[in-house]
Amino acid sequence: MEMLIWTTVAGLLIGAVLLVPRWRRRRALAAPLAPGRVAMLAHSLPIYDRLGAELQGQLQRLVQQFLYDKKFVGCDGLEVDDDMRVTIAGQACLLLLNRFTRVYPALHTILVYPGAFLVPRNVVDGAGVVTATRQDLLGESWGDGRVVLAWDHVRRGGADWHDGQNVVLHEFAHQLDSESGSTNGAPYLGSQSSYRNWSQVLSRDFAALRADAMLRQHSVMDHYGATSPAEFFAVATETFFEKPWQMAERHPALYGEFGKYYRVDPRQWQDAPLAHGDSDAPASHGDPGARYGNWR
Ligand SMILES: [Zn+2]
Repeated sequence: MEMLIWTTVAGLLIGAVLLVPRWRRRRALAAPLAPGRVAMLAHSLPIYDRLGAELQGQLQRLVQQFLYDKKFVGCDGLEVDDDMRVTIAGQACLLLLNRFTRVYPALHTILVYPGAFLVPRNVVDGAGVVTATRQDLLGESWGDGRVVLAWDHVRRGGADWHDGQNVVLHEFAHQLDSESGSTNGAPYLGSQSSYRNWSQVLSRDFAALRADAMLRQHSVMDHYGATSPAEFFAVATETFFEKPWQMAERHPALYGEFGKYYRVDPRQWQDAPLAHGDSDAPASHGDPGARYGNWR
């Protein structure tokens, strides 16, 4: 009898340990995003008002889940406040609208530095000599579930939604890319797209960007995308969301493939620029030597 009681108590305890966190999470995610956070989201995302009620609702639910599941860590003395968390979550979750996917399931931690951060790098020269050096980065996406961001560039990228440069969109595009098992510019496409079309279109435009970068010719996409197919996908994602009219005009097939993948048309969220407005903007990052991170 005593044995039965202890077995029952142990079973109840194990059940509580397993079920209570799930119940808490379900209850938290069922609640609407707090009004204060909705205001932060609207303030930090210049296109928020243009999304429409349906996509705004989706974004709020995605942000709610992101904020519940992911851990934010301030680095170099930075204290990460709720405004920072909502700003980062809002931009990251923009990539998930209409996609009915999980919220970056492999990601668990976002490390936030006040500004560009130094990371050790091994540089190999033409003779194969490896030199240890340090490089300034604005963001980095790791395959072990971490994203690293420079807060001043997150804020700047969100404030200017027309320059095609956004470190959050860039690093979280790397996260999506890695969900297919390898980070190579070919994310999991689902049933909406054909890998053959995707590969043909991206290979052609990647080669064109490499040629532009080599000849130092201006391009609608940042020349950093010529670094590798993975960087091309991340840079093209920034361009798709921030310079959709220019991308659709200069790279219609690429814009079509990204439209099928992301399942949104960001042209609906901003007015068409005046004739050839900034499509010839210089293809360089704001900080000399700083980059939007190399996936590892
Ligand atoms: Zn990158």
